[in-house]
Amino acid sequence: MDILGFDSSRCFIGGVWAACDTGEVLALRNPSDGSILAEIAKGSAADIDRAVAAAESALSSEWGRATAAERGRVLARLGQLVLEHQELLAELEARDVGKPLTQARADVVALARYMEFYAGAADKLHGATIPYLDGYTVYTLREPHGVTGHIVPWNYPMQIIGRSVGAALAMGNACVLKPAEEACLTALAFAELASQAGLPAGALNVVPGLGAEAGAALAGHPRVKHVSFTGSVGTGRLVQKAAGENVVPVTLELGGKSPQLVFDDADIEAALTFLVNAGVQNAGQTCSASSRILVQRGVYDQTVACMSERFNTLRAGPAMDDLELGPLVSLRQRQIVEGYLAKGADLDVAARGQVVPDAPEDGAYVAPVLFAGVSPDHILAQEEIFGPVQVIIPFDDEAEAIAIANGTEYGLVASVWTRDGARQMRLAKALRAGQVFLNNYGAGGGVELPFGGTGLSGHGREKGFEALYAFSSLKTVAAKHG
Ligand code: NAD
Repeated sequence: MDILGFDSSRCFIGGVWAACDTGEVLALRNPSDGSILAEIAKGSAADIDRAVAAAESALSSEWGRATAAERGRVLARLGQLVLEHQELLAELEARDVGKPLTQARADVVALARYMEFYAGAADKLHGATIPYLDGYTVYTLREPHGVTGHIVPWNYPMQIIGRSVGAALAMGNACVLKPAEEACLTALAFAELASQAGLPAGALNVVPGLGAEAGAALAGHPRVKHVSFTGSVGTGRLVQKAAGENVVPVTLELGGKSPQLVFDDADIEAALTFLVNAGVQNAGQTCSASSRILVQRGVYDQTVACMSERFNTLRAGPAMDDLELGPLVSLRQRQIVEGYLAKGADLDVAARGQVVPDAPEDGAYVAPVLFAGVSPDHILAQEEIFGPVQVIIPFDDEAEAIAIANGTEYGLVASVWTRDGARQMRLAKALRAGQVFLNNYGAGGGVELPFGGTGLSGHGREKGFEALYAFSSLKTVAAKHG
């Protein structure tokens, strides 16, 4: 496929589009109808090695010498170019991931916002002076790690590239990006736009390929100084082990089972859109999807009825038809979700949306399902499904709500719906999560808001200013001058 004048089956290394070392390619499928959308490079360890060398050479030349203000200027131009190409990027992402066009357009704006945010932040992070012994001056310097590795999943390629590559470049690192084999067209387009924005050759390199080959080579490369990974828990463990061999820091963002807690005094009308959308956005393939809805008994029937009414109107269809849901990313992902639905055969289905009748047979569609009256220890209330499936769990009081909310191995996002200010403060402290929303919910939102998890949701923080600390290392300089 031709994208912005280059061939999608190439890697972007050292500012040049070229076939991967073996010349092999992988087929990328359109999940809306199962057709082959494009060919992408099947990058290998040799390509990763070349990309790391190109990044090192960028660090020892123009990119390494760029001032923080100059880095910010490139990112600002890149953000502008992203916005100017909104329709092209949105269509690529919609066809590649299967997400409805409206969501894909929102992802483009988020990518541009990351560039804008980190453009402005690049020259705002500075060290400190530290009072010390008589005759000393002590100060700290924030320095880039060097070459950073970015392993990105298929669910929100643009947003996840924006948050990790944006922050890494702002701090002066040089990046090697391994997009997911299921969806990587916007990663390639982003690299071309970065080059057009004036990012020096080698500062951003993109090597598509299989996780077990290109991904593993990047995670374990001895000259990569920081690894940022978003994806499954199993792969996260492998990435952390590989990076551990080289004793380099890792940021892991591994998904969740994020709850929304609805108390008797909540404004149910205000909550409703968030309760449903946070579960079915991107067909539920969102790390911060809210897949558990905990409801106090006094408003339980009302909440189940209101959510069911909405759920029954939800339609899944081709991404370009721009309905509420598109297909899942692949037939494999559909199989995983269907496996979970089979495990929920004993549960009470409160509502079910529909797959539109004319949806192509080879598309990866799943109708959204809402289960009610679910026990907190049921497998569907414990494991991340990564599909349009939500469970409603009743509770009696605050203590029980906290116990259920904290009763999974994950801890990414949580939200609380209550008008009681004191309860809001208590729960914000009691909930085990990297982000807590009070009377709202931000699945994937908030470029400015630090994001990341605890437990199986991972560790480290991306987004906001916090990411700049993760993508830099602190040096203390102690001068004795008498
Ligand atoms: P995955 O973890 O296998 O893939 C994520 C990225 O890691 C991809 O770029 C992949 O190529 C790469 N990768 C795979 N194996 C690797 C290895 N050994 N070393 C280094 N990199 C490797 O995820 P998946 O198989 O695409 O999805 C499976 C499940 O992961 C989903 O059902 C979902 O639960 C979860 N997931 C979570 C997120 C999230 O945002 N937290 C995103 C995607 C998937």
